[in-house]
Amino acid sequence: MNFLTILTFHDLDDSDEVIAFSPILFHIGMEMLRDEGWQAISLREAVRNVGLERPFPDRSFAITFDDGYRAVYKEAFPILRQLGIPATVFLTVGEKARAHAWATEDRLPSLNGREMLDWSEIREMHESGIFQFGAHTLSHPDLTRLTPAEAEAEMRDSKAIIEDALSTAVDCFAYPFGRYDRRTRDIAARYFRYACSDKLGFTNRKSDLYALERVDSYYVRRVWTFSLMKGRLFPLYINARRIPREIKRAILSR
Ligand SMILES: [Zn+2]
Repeated sequence: MNFLTILTFHDLDDSDEVIAFSPILFHIGMEMLRDEGWQAISLREAVRNVGLERPFPDRSFAITFDDGYRAVYKEAFPILRQLGIPATVFLTVGEKARAHAWATEDRLPSLNGREMLDWSEIREMHESGIFQFGAHTLSHPDLTRLTPAEAEAEMRDSKAIIEDALSTAVDCFAYPFGRYDRRTRDIAARYFRYACSDKLGFTNRKSDLYALERVDSYYVRRVWTFSLMKGRLFPLYINARRIPREIKRAILSR
C-alpha cells in the first residue's frame, strides 16, 4: 500500500463538540476495521516506511490522541487493550510539571474545561505496552506566535518531563492546533524523530517526517455511525446521545 491513515482523536464522550467522539462509536469503528482486515500499527512502525521505497503494510492504520484527556484511560484503553490495538497519546504536560517532574501524581492541566489524565494512569497505560507517548508542549500554545526561545522551551521541556516520568525515550511530537512554520519544524527536528501536523491527508512515502498528515476522527464519524446501525450497540448509542441533548433542551428552555 502506498499510503497510511493516521487517525486523530481528542476526547471521547457523547457531547456534540468537535473535539469529542462517541466511545461506543469508537468501539464499533475499531471492531469494524479489524473485521474488515485492517491492521493497526504503532506510529513508530508507521513512520519507518516514510522516505523508503518499501510499501506500508496492507490495510494498515495508526491511532493518535491529542492533549491527554482522561477518557483515553477510561474509555479507549480497555477497548484497545482488548483488541490489541496500539496507539500514541500526545500529552500537554503543564508548566507546573517543569518545577517538579518527579512528583508526578498530578493530573495534566485542564484543556477545554475537560478532565485530563493523571500520571499514574499514564504510567499504567505505558506499562501495558499498548500506548506510546509523545510530547504536545507544556501549555498548548500556537508555537508560531512564540519567540524561538519560548517555542524551543515548550517542546524541549515537555519531552524531558515525559521521559523523566516514564523512564523512556520520547521520539515524537504533535504541534498544538496543528500549527507549525519552518522555524518550529526545525526545532522539532532537533528534538524528535517525527512530528504530526493536522494537515488533512494520508501519510505516504514522500511525507515530511516533521509534518505528518492525519485524518481527524470528525471525518469518520458519519461512516462509523452508518455501520453502527447494523450492530448490537446501536440502541446504546442512541440512548447515550439522547440524554445530553435532553439536558441541554431543559436548560435552554428556562
Ligand atoms: Zn492539542
